[in-house]
Amino acid sequence: MKKLAFVLGIRPDVIRAALIIEKLRRYDDMEFVFIWSGQHYSDNLKDVFFRELDVAPAQIDLGARGDTDAEVVASVIARLGPVLGELRPEATVFLGDTNTTTGAIASAQLNIPIVHIEGCMRSYDWRMPEEKYRVTIDHLSDVIYAYYPEYKEQGIREGLNPDSIVVVTNPIVDILQRFYFERREKFTRLAGDAFFAARGIERGRYYLMTCHRRENLERDSLDAIMRLVASAPYPVFFPASYRVQKLLVERGQQLPVNVRAVDPIGYDEFLALMANARGVMTDSGTVVEETCVLQIPSLQMRHSTERPQVYDVGSSVKFDPSEADRYPAEVVFGKLEALHGTSWDASVLGDGRASERIADDLHRRTADGGFARHRPELYHVPVARSYRDDGLPNPARPAVTP
Ligand code: UDP
Repeated sequence: MKKLAFVLGIRPDVIRAALIIEKLRRYDDMEFVFIWSGQHYSDNLKDVFFRELDVAPAQIDLGARGDTDAEVVASVIARLGPVLGELRPEATVFLGDTNTTTGAIASAQLNIPIVHIEGCMRSYDWRMPEEKYRVTIDHLSDVIYAYYPEYKEQGIREGLNPDSIVVVTNPIVDILQRFYFERREKFTRLAGDAFFAARGIERGRYYLMTCHRRENLERDSLDAIMRLVASAPYPVFFPASYRVQKLLVERGQQLPVNVRAVDPIGYDEFLALMANARGVMTDSGTVVEETCVLQIPSLQMRHSTERPQVYDVGSSVKFDPSEADRYPAEVVFGKLEALHGTSWDASVLGDGRASERIADDLHRRTADGGFARHRPELYHVPVARSYRDDGLPNPARPAVTP
């Protein structure tokens, strides 16, 4: 039976891919092999999402580890290579812009076609490691699923083959539809008064915060974020990544008194907190998409974005920690508060059918061999010169002179 390998490795991967995986697992004419890189491995960054989003665990866990990005990347490539060599899938599918996506190099080394979900996103901010990963995997890929036509255009401008980029819209819309909007009663029960009391906050009168992007962990940027947070007009509930917690301790940096920090939390709890927040302060790409769909104002603590659509529709306020002077707290929170009670058109993000489109296309290509797209005849640029003959006379057949 033809096989498709699907490689993921961090918390938001499980969230975004949950319904794609669900659908791929249902096809009985292909074998779906789910591989976990091991980048995230604790219960609250991994297993809780498998449970809450009904995703059956990966068949293979590479257990890739490392103290530095270089070590993690090396470990992903070194461990994925032999697994793919054994499996020989029709293609290897990756999602997003993480260390795990560098596993595409292992697939490339084996000449196994590569698929990239969430392709052609660009911040054009070359300081971000994610941007380099996006460019690398897109150019290695045979098939790219891009969320919006403008992303496809970005890819084409970089020289990617238009015929290899499929526009599908954003699967986060499907996820919120299934796991939030269709389960509203569950969230009404979960987010009762006791839920907020236990967290020391009041419904609708707190900001939810996440902050873990590498550029924001530089001392100056983190300081700027903490100064901003200290001026927030409402208490701030902050599920803090372990890296941020460690950094704050190492630097002896205190959290402002209006911040309540906890360890990272599961998806149901986070959804309940997002949906009932006055606003969400974040540097996460997924969270600003979610708040846009949930009609909750967000404040993005980032210099650049690869998701400008959430600004286009008027759902999000910018704060740039690297140029904090240009974004005074009273202006930033003034804008955020002005968004409270307004609504916007989130339909630009998707129609709830992205996961289905991706899964169907993957299924079709697995069956008909439609993955390998680096064949000379499929290039959209002229490649004939590379395959030209040498043009030299054949000495075995000397030219006949009349
Ligand atoms: N999230 C969560 N618990 C948390 C923080 C975030 O469930 O404590 C969810 C959030 O709703 C979003 C995803 O995790 O779906 C975002 O993860 P992250 O910020 O790590 O990824 P990024 O968006 O930066 O790629």
